[in-house]
Amino acid sequence: MAGLIPQEFIDDLVARVDIVELIDELVHLKKAGREYKACCPFHDEKTPSFTVSADKQFYHCFGCGAHGTAIGFLMEYSHLDFVEAVEELASRVGMDIPRGGDTPRPRGPDSTPLYAMLEQARGYFRQQLAGHPAAPEARHYLERRELDAKILERFEIGYAPPGWNNLLRVLGKAPEAGQQLLDAGLITEGSRNEPYDRFRDRVIFPIRDRRGRVVGFGGRVLKDDTPKYLNSPETPVFHKGRELYGLYQALQIQGHWPRLVVVEGYTDVLALAARGIDYAVATLGTAVTEEHLKPLFRLADEVVFCFDGDRAGQKAAWRTVEVALPALRDGCQAAFVFLPEGEDPDSLIRRLGPEDFEQRVASASGLTEFLFSHLQEQVDLSSLDGRARLAGLARPLVEKIPPGALRQLVIKRLGSLTGLESAEIDEVVGRPSSPTRPSRPRISQSTDRQRPSLVRSAIQLLIHHPEVGATAAIPVDLDKLELAGTSLLLEILGLLAEKPSLSTAGILEHFRDRPEGRHLTQLATLAPPALSSEGLSQELQDILARLLRKLEEQRYRHLAQKCGNTALSEAEKEEYRRLCSAMPGGENPG
Ligand SMILES: [Zn+2]
Repeated sequence: MAGLIPQEFIDDLVARVDIVELIDELVHLKKAGREYKACCPFHDEKTPSFTVSADKQFYHCFGCGAHGTAIGFLMEYSHLDFVEAVEELASRVGMDIPRGGDTPRPRGPDSTPLYAMLEQARGYFRQQLAGHPAAPEARHYLERRELDAKILERFEIGYAPPGWNNLLRVLGKAPEAGQQLLDAGLITEGSRNEPYDRFRDRVIFPIRDRRGRVVGFGGRVLKDDTPKYLNSPETPVFHKGRELYGLYQALQIQGHWPRLVVVEGYTDVLALAARGIDYAVATLGTAVTEEHLKPLFRLADEVVFCFDGDRAGQKAAWRTVEVALPALRDGCQAAFVFLPEGEDPDSLIRRLGPEDFEQRVASASGLTEFLFSHLQEQVDLSSLDGRARLAGLARPLVEKIPPGALRQLVIKRLGSLTGLESAEIDEVVGRPSSPTRPSRPRISQSTDRQRPSLVRSAIQLLIHHPEVGATAAIPVDLDKLELAGTSLLLEILGLLAEKPSLSTAGILEHFRDRPEGRHLTQLATLAPPALSSEGLSQELQDILARLLRKLEEQRYRHLAQKCGNTALSEAEKEEYRRLCSAMPGGENPG
């Protein structure tokens, strides 16, 4: 998504917007020292622990850990996606997102007419449920489902009457309307290019996005036709991998939930809501995606996934684990509940009532629990081999979890199951960017361990004080240093050399869609280095000098090893001599 809006534009936008002004309009801020404070809008609190920094253009809550840039704030606070947040900020400061030419527009041609058309269709379907001669059958179906008028009203349930050209006849009068109905997925073209209504003789479930716009519909048959459920196709405004049925309605009741439950169908959401469980949402006939999960983890403390108890349900749950791990953040939990075989939330709650369902959800197994029980089924923990295999299976999964308390918890659990020390596991999984080099000389490992945070300290310094990086002298060849994080450090230095005025938020926006972004944002929440601006420059140069020294050590070891095996070239001999005399206690090779 972010890739479609030019980074140049994001840079300008972040530079133009003032995060203090933005947040102050929504949450009343008070000046406190160099920063601003308020009671956090993302969690309940009485004493303010939410801070906004004008220098960094960054907010951070010490209570719940929420943090980010102005774009990130709007995404969280107003439940917008990235493009929407950028559009909103751009309109606030009167900037136009570059469109046309070589730059692809963020959302295809202007989507406004499609939203209007979908809204009109929603109204039409709603009216038909009340008044169409064929509607009693649909109303009867809904009654059998025990869905009362209040639920039908809240979810705006409608009816698409039988017939092939109802929508064209009612909504297709304007010259562009036919194309808009087609683009909105409301009509479809047959083999003879004859347009006809997509939804016919079906109960209609309008799907609203988080901002409340109708983006598509689901339809269920009344007779034995197939498919039983039919959704709008993917359109410029409807993406199944992003939308969740019922989320808009849940957010109308409250903006943040202690718990949201993810189920499979519209009728599950409705059956639960009809019995007072207003916090269920459904995917739209697709597997759960990361795009689904990111907002869910923002909008709830806990997300519980409901699956059928059969093998297919187990498999779907495991897929969800793999998708959920990268989206998890501290303070938010994922859990899994498996229903008795052959039951869905709809049938279960009608048979056993809401208390039973709530009880199941409350005792759902946590993600860690589910993850390990699934892995343990594949290995024999009583053998050394099995324990090693468990560590091997868990490793790629642990690597997906963002750094933080949850990741530590999983590592600890893995340790207690395999008998490996946390530090050993950390060594294996803790540094995903550093390829394991078993043949690496011992000396390098010990120096790395003594100063694990050299590169990190430099990056942290730059994140808090980007201005220092703009003038730093970057040693040539430092890119050859084999040390985790070096290339990221050099990338940030390069970025600042090119754009000396980037703020903390400006840097973070450059890494929004990359795995490093998460680490950088974490660093921005830590206390800034307590040094004067002169001290900071000195500190950075000092670190760079030490990294250069490490590079020389690496080069020295490489040449020493090589000269034991083969002859060195003249240039290598010269370099080796130079390095030998520079190494502490280094012998002269003669
Ligand atoms: Zn908070």
